[in-house]
Amino acid sequence: MSELAVVGGGVIGLSVAWRAAGRGHSVTVYDPTPGRGASWLAGGMLAPVTEAWPGEEDVLSLGEESLRRWPAFARELAEEGFDPGLSEKGTLVVGLDRADVEHLEILAGYLTSLGREVEVLTGREARRLEPGVGGSVRSGLSVPGDLAVDNRKLLVSLRKAAEQRGVQFVTETIVDVESVDADVVVIAAGAWSGRLHPALAGGVRPLKGEILRLRPRRGCLPPPERTVRAVVEGRPIYLVPRADGELVLGATQYEAGFDETVAARGVRELLEGAERVFPSIAEYELVEMAAGLRAASVDNLPFIGDLGDGVLAATGHHRNGLLLAPVTADAIVALLAGSELPPHAEAAHPRRLPSLKSTERV
Ligand SMILES: Cc1cc2nc3c(=O)[nH]c(=O)nc-3n(C[C@H](O)[C@H](O)[C@H](O)COP(=O)(O)OP(=O)(O)OC[C@H]3O[C@@H](n4cnc5c(N)ncnc54)[C@H](O)[C@@H]3O)c2cc1C
Repeated sequence: MSELAVVGGGVIGLSVAWRAAGRGHSVTVYDPTPGRGASWLAGGMLAPVTEAWPGEEDVLSLGEESLRRWPAFARELAEEGFDPGLSEKGTLVVGLDRADVEHLEILAGYLTSLGREVEVLTGREARRLEPGVGGSVRSGLSVPGDLAVDNRKLLVSLRKAAEQRGVQFVTETIVDVESVDADVVVIAAGAWSGRLHPALAGGVRPLKGEILRLRPRRGCLPPPERTVRAVVEGRPIYLVPRADGELVLGATQYEAGFDETVAARGVRELLEGAERVFPSIAEYELVEMAAGLRAASVDNLPFIGDLGDGVLAATGHHRNGLLLAPVTADAIVALLAGSELPPHAEAAHPRRLPSLKSTERV
C-alpha cells in the first residue's frame, strides 16, 4: 500500500482521500482551507442529463456513470455516520420565450434519442408539478433521474469520514509538487491545479461563477421541491432546494482569471432570471452572495490519470465536480491498485493535454 499525498481538499480531493484510505493507503491531504474552494459554493446538481448538449457525449456518459454510483456513494457515507444530504426529486427544466421552447425541444429530442427518460410538459403541467413556477413559463421538461446533493453537508461528511479512516490533514499550500514526500501525489487543486504541474498549466483554467443563497421569509411561497432550471434570455439559471429550506440560485459563468469578487451585474442577472421563473423569490431573504472558480478544460472533460513521475491528475471538473466525484475517486483508486484507467474514464485521460500529446510516442 502506498503513501498517498492529495493536494487539494475540495470534493474531489476529499473523495479520493476517503476512498483510498478505505483501500488501505496511508493518505495525507494538503490544503490551507480544506472543504472550501468551488465545492463549498456549488449548486449541488448531479445532473448529467440536463447539463448535456449534442456533441458532448463523452461528458454525458462519464456523468451518467458517476450518477449511477451516487446512491451507493451516499449510502456508504451515511453508513459511516455522515449523511451527505442526497435528494432524489429530479429536475424540471422550463422554457419562457420561443427560443427557450426551441432549446427545450432540441434537448428533449437529443435525450430521447439517447434513451433517457424525459417528459415534455406544457406551461400549465409544469406549474402543476411546481406551483411556484411563474405564469410566463410556456413549456417544461421533467427529468426524474437527476439527483442533487447538499454540497456543504457532503464536504463536512467526507472530511469526517476521511478522518475516521485515518486520513491526515495538513493546512498548507503546496508550491512544488516534487517537494511532497509521498509515493504518489494526486493533484486535486481545482482551478489552481495549473500552478502545480506544467502539463496542467495549459489545460486547466479558472471560470468564474456567481451564486446566491436565499430563504423564504414568513408568508412567502415555499421553495420548489425539485431542481428548476431555465435559460432566460440566453443565460442558464437554476434553483436548487435544500432540505433545511434554503434555496440556491446559480450561476453566472464567465472568464475573469482568479477573481473571486461578486459583481453587481451577476447578482442582478441571476435575480432577474429567477424572478421570471419563480416570481416569489423576489420576497425571499438573500442570505449569501459568493463567487467561485470552476476548473475548466477546453473539451469540458476532466483530467483523470497519470502525469508521470508518480503524479496523478484528478482535476478540471468544470461544471460537474460534485457529480463526477464518485467516478473520479474510483478511477484514482483503480490506478493506485495498478489497474488501467477504467474504460468509461478513458476519455478523461490526461494524454490529450497539449504538452503530453506532443511528447507521446507514435
Ligand atoms: C458557482 C458554481 C456552481 C457550481 N455548481 C455545480 C453543481 O451544481 N454541480 C456540480 O457537479 N458542480 C458544480 N460546480 C462545479 C464544482 O463546484 C467543481 O467542479 C468542484 O467543486 C471541483 O472540485 P475540486 O475539488 O476539484 O476543486 P475545489 O472545490 O475548488 O477545491 C480545490 C481545493 O484545492 C485547494 N488548493 C488550491 N491550490 C492548492 C495548493 N497549491 N496546495 C494545496 N491546496 C490547494 C483549495 O484551497 C481548494 O480547497 C459549480 C461551480 C461553481 C463555481
